[in-house]
Amino acid sequence: MSNPFVQPDLDYDREHVWHPYSSMTEPGRIWPVVSASGVRLKLQDGRELIDGMSSWWCAIHGYNHPTLNAALVEQAERMSHVMFGGLTHGPAIELARRLVALTPDGLDKVFIADSGSVSVEVAIKMAIQYQQAKGETGRTRLLALERGYHGDTLGAMSVCDPRRGMHHLFSGILPQQFFVPEPATRFDQPWNPEDMTPLKRCLEDNHQQIAALILEPIVQGAGGMRFYHPEYLRQARALCDQYGVLLIADEIATGFGRAGKLFACEYADVVPDIMCVGKAITGGYMSLAATLATAEVAEVISQGEAGCFMHGPTFMGNPLACRVACASLDLLMESDWQAHVTRIEAALQKGLAPARGLKGVADVRVLGAIGVIELEQPVDTARLQPACVDRGIWVRPFANNFYVMPPFVMGDGDLAYLTSNMVGALESTLAV
Ligand SMILES: *Cc1c(COP(=O)(O)O)cnc(C)c1O
Repeated sequence: MSNPFVQPDLDYDREHVWHPYSSMTEPGRIWPVVSASGVRLKLQDGRELIDGMSSWWCAIHGYNHPTLNAALVEQAERMSHVMFGGLTHGPAIELARRLVALTPDGLDKVFIADSGSVSVEVAIKMAIQYQQAKGETGRTRLLALERGYHGDTLGAMSVCDPRRGMHHLFSGILPQQFFVPEPATRFDQPWNPEDMTPLKRCLEDNHQQIAALILEPIVQGAGGMRFYHPEYLRQARALCDQYGVLLIADEIATGFGRAGKLFACEYADVVPDIMCVGKAITGGYMSLAATLATAEVAEVISQGEAGCFMHGPTFMGNPLACRVACASLDLLMESDWQAHVTRIEAALQKGLAPARGLKGVADVRVLGAIGVIELEQPVDTARLQPACVDRGIWVRPFANNFYVMPPFVMGDGDLAYLTSNMVGALESTLAV
């Protein structure tokens, strides 16, 4: 008898299992993975792929890490889960201690959530409850940037790009939020003050209805993989203060070093009122996220009509996830992560540069350990992805972007292999 956990039943998968953004009747091609170690994924047919995705920004230390494995086993043998209502435990407390210490000064109150989208829902609810408690009962809407991405649940979808995003299908039932165009000045361009005009106007006209501005600091992720100028973030913070609007920073993708700073807010020296973290928090081991708030936000909410913050997921503060998160954050801080990210940034710059010359390539850009080849047209994933697998790399394109965010532990040889084969795979599919 074969072991179905290491010999996946692909026929059953095809008939019964949804995958992200997928069709049940015309499923795209899919590759069974049987194990993963370091920066390599091992397929069922024995081939190994160098992983350029870190499993969607998460696996910063690589796979099957002995320290993270040990933390998980030790915690499982003590206590996998207990409810968080009326009970507390070391893993949750120690995770909060680390998050408060690592995040910008002032973010002192931690809500532990089960996924990034949930942490965004929590942030939105915090902002609304805060304004209600202040007597600002008209401030029930959010302000967000076009090309933003904040998750797939209903509240989070309502602040994603309303036109180009994947969620416009639901627009009829989503709360109607305010949107302004994303900042046009790129990270490394000279600052253009006119970038602020739409945000300024929108706040001037509508601030009495706006509870909070939500944005991804510096790096807009799934909505376009764009890197914008830190001055925008600095001035957005000042405008929020001027108009009594809270600033929510969604650092779910950028947090924990990915964009070259521990948190992307640091590029602008800005402290948000509320911050969401997730993705890399457990090093890719389990689903976990957190919403941090300032003491002021927490105190105002707690003194409001409800007397408490109205949210409490069943798996809040899951000890297994919190324990692995602590181990992952300790690994990160004990490592010279900044040197690794700088090294990866240079390797991506060098390795992806040849793509600039290819027909159909609109732009190549790199920030921290994020490298993007933007095409003029949506990527033909059905052809490009198999071409990548055939060359021994795992890269999953999305919309117009063919992009990577490798694990921080990837060596120079693997980085060179990854980038040259990205360019090669792209060349082979563009040429035909
Ligand atoms: C991935 C992501 C989310 C959603 O997180 P999930 O864990 O997938 O729910 C929210 N915001 C940003 C910026 C993200 O990259």
